[in-house]
Amino acid sequence: MINKLPWLTPQIMDSRQQLQAGKLPHGLLLVGRPGDGLHQMGEHLANTILCGKAEAPCGQCKACQLFLAGTHPDYRLLEPEGKSETIKIEPIRAMSAFMSGTAQQGGARVVRLRSAERMNTSAANALLKVLEEPGRDSFLILESESLSRLLPTVRSRCRIIKLAVPDQNKANAYLEGEAIAPAERPLRLIMSEGAPLTAAALDSSAMSRWREQAEAFSSQGRMTELAAFLAKQPARDALQQLLLWVDESIRCRYTGAVKLVDQDKLLVDRLKQPPLTSLFRFRDYILEIEDSLNRQANLNQQLWSEQLAARWLELTG
Ligand SMILES: [Zn+2]
Repeated sequence: MINKLPWLTPQIMDSRQQLQAGKLPHGLLLVGRPGDGLHQMGEHLANTILCGKAEAPCGQCKACQLFLAGTHPDYRLLEPEGKSETIKIEPIRAMSAFMSGTAQQGGARVVRLRSAERMNTSAANALLKVLEEPGRDSFLILESESLSRLLPTVRSRCRIIKLAVPDQNKANAYLEGEAIAPAERPLRLIMSEGAPLTAAALDSSAMSRWREQAEAFSSQGRMTELAAFLAKQPARDALQQLLLWVDESIRCRYTGAVKLVDQDKLLVDRLKQPPLTSLFRFRDYILEIEDSLNRQANLNQQLWSEQLAARWLELTG
């Protein structure tokens, strides 16, 4: 899998060299987007550490075979659980006991924490103890999309590795490898903000909804009809697309060329007219709705759709 993600290679090589020189820190914090290969990188590093060979992961040794079978006794993966999608204190305590024990295979012990930013405060405090007194040959790999949502005390005890982001050529090559048709690649990369794994996983209904929304916002000049359209869309996707137009338009005021294509590009062009302050106010309004949705899932979509449509038409009219 990892050789499909060549933009990660330099960081993987670095970590392997440090491991072999005995200089790899016990706490590693990978920061990046899942769509750029965040979790694949975490898994690969875990495999590399457990293998420990010069060309790790070799894929041949006992450690590699156990790891690939998902049965390596010196490896644990912690993920958010339950409806609240939180990492709570109990699994962290159990992990702490595991880390201070003895490795069954005689090598290293590795624990991965997916979505580490979803630890609650007591879990994070329990984790701090593990980071302060790591057992011998034990490694903790934290994977997070958001550095700012982790406690500073946790961050400061880890080596932070910010995931490299693929350029457009590498992202396109990845999509080619996943047999995505050339004509679909630009839109997929726009929708996923350039994250290739997300781009490859998009389904066709999400893509046609995206095209429909661009079409509606391009052609619909009446508030009631635009609002009626918006009220029927999945809220988060609709807002994400609007935000993308606004952000792209703001970026273009500073750096020129529009990166989007087709109808999305036309909409960004239309947003070049209003003053920057109005654009920022509109942007704040979109973020406010997103925020309300996060706190209150049953927010009246009809109501905000009308307000949003009215503000859009005022902005672009
Ligand atoms: Zn191996």
